[in-house]
Amino acid sequence: MAANRFEIAAPKWNGGKRCVGLNADRLNCDMVEVDIQYRDKTGNRVFPGLLNMSSTKVKTYPVQVVGGGVKLHMVPIADLTEQSIKSQVVTKPAKVCHACGGQEFWVRLGLGEEEELCCRCHPKPREEV
Ligand SMILES: [Zn+2]
Repeated sequence: MAANRFEIAAPKWNGGKRCVGLNADRLNCDMVEVDIQYRDKTGNRVFPGLLNMSSTKVKTYPVQVVGGGVKLHMVPIADLTEQSIKSQVVTKPAKVCHACGGQEFWVRLGLGEEEELCCRCHPKPREEV
C-alpha cells in the first residue's frame, strides 16, 4: 500500500473544527499520513502522533481553493486515525519538560528519527508495538 506523507505546519479552523488541508493533487495513493508539526509556545508538539486516513475517504471531504488554485480537502483532525507507532518509555532525569516540569519521557521511533515526548503532556498512543 502506497502512502503519501503530508507535513502540516499548523492546523486550520474550518466550520468550527480544527482541520488539515490536504492537497487534492497528492491523493494518488492508497493512504495518506499526516504529520502535524505544530508546537505550542513551550516547544512541545500539540499533535505528536502520525495520523492517517485512506485517500478514498479524504476525497469525500469538502474542498477549499487556496492561492494558485490549489485544492485542499479540509479534513477534521478528529476524523484521522492515529497510527500505531513503535515507542518506548525512558526516564531521563537530566531533562525537564518546559511545560509541566516532568522528568519522564517516551521516545517515538515511528517516523524514522527519534523524538522524546513528555509522558504527562503527550500520553502514549493507544498501542505500543
Ligand atoms: Zn510535560
